[in-house]
Amino acid sequence: MRVSEIQRFCMHDGPGVRTTVFLKGCPLHCAWCHNPETQKPGPEILFWQNKCVGCGACAAVCPVGAHRLTEDGHFFDRSVCKGCGKCAEVCCAGALSPSMREMSVREVYAEIERDRAFYGTSGGVTLSGGEPLAQGDEALSLLRLCREGGIGTAIETSGFFDGDLLPALIPLTDCFLWDFKDGNDERHRQYTGASNGPVIRNLLRADELGAVTALRCIMVRGVNMEEDHYRAIADLWGRLCGCLYVELLPYHAYGGSKMTALGGRDNGRTDWIPSEDDMARAADRLRALGTNLK
Ligand code: SF4
Ligand code: SF4
Ligand code: SF4
Repeated sequence: MRVSEIQRFCMHDGPGVRTTVFLKGCPLHCAWCHNPETQKPGPEILFWQNKCVGCGACAAVCPVGAHRLTEDGHFFDRSVCKGCGKCAEVCCAGALSPSMREMSVREVYAEIERDRAFYGTSGGVTLSGGEPLAQGDEALSLLRLCREGGIGTAIETSGFFDGDLLPALIPLTDCFLWDFKDGNDERHRQYTGASNGPVIRNLLRADELGAVTALRCIMVRGVNMEEDHYRAIADLWGRLCGCLYVELLPYHAYGGSKMTALGGRDNGRTDWIPSEDDMARAADRLRALGTNLK
């Protein structure tokens, strides 16, 4: 599996205490992505320029000469980087970090099992990302091991994945935290790079097959905090039998610094952050439309 990170003692990724496994690779490119290091399927190096002390250790080990230290600073040529991770291994300043590691399904399961004592009756593992179901076969194998081991399972998904996975997936998954980013397809395409059609089709099919879901809706001021989106959320809520609640999550700009560390432009948009009043108004509207808000 291509694993970006494993976080322990998570309280917001499903019920109870959870170990969250972030998998690398996502078919979407959301403009507000808070985990941009998980988007590309392959390895990348995050470079935190402000932490670099200029020791030159990375340049000494890089087999392709991607790091160059000059009087003007440290230049990192990502176009030649092979993602071997050697530079991050020798950086003592924490200025370089790999965006993923390869692990076998059994190795990931062993990490999850270490926290078994903390899961209690409601906790367990959450597969997140990126889009965890972009690695569908591996995710199924891991979920099977968790089932056999009596560990609770949840998936945080964009909903944009191969729908043929659903019949095998649903008996192995206690709960899906399902993103619904925008009910307006034109905006969805503009801000995520893809149509919301597959997301909605997969969700309705999952519901037919008995999935337990929670709808997670990121609120981005000036983008999707619109009446047509609220109505689409309420419409979906009304059509789903197994949906427990709708959760509204305010956009935050934390992904911006990671974009910079990946060599991109800081895309953190502070003007997109909704105020408490904006969130309260959205919640009031969704309650008025009949949804069960968390
Ligand atoms: S090893 Fe780390 S601290 Fe040293 S030059 Fe490279 S990035 Fe900077
Ligand atoms: S990951 Fe490997 S190839 Fe890429 S910059 Fe580091 S040492 Fe060089
Ligand atoms: S679906 Fe999630 S991981 Fe993928 S681009 Fe969107 S916010 Fe980022």
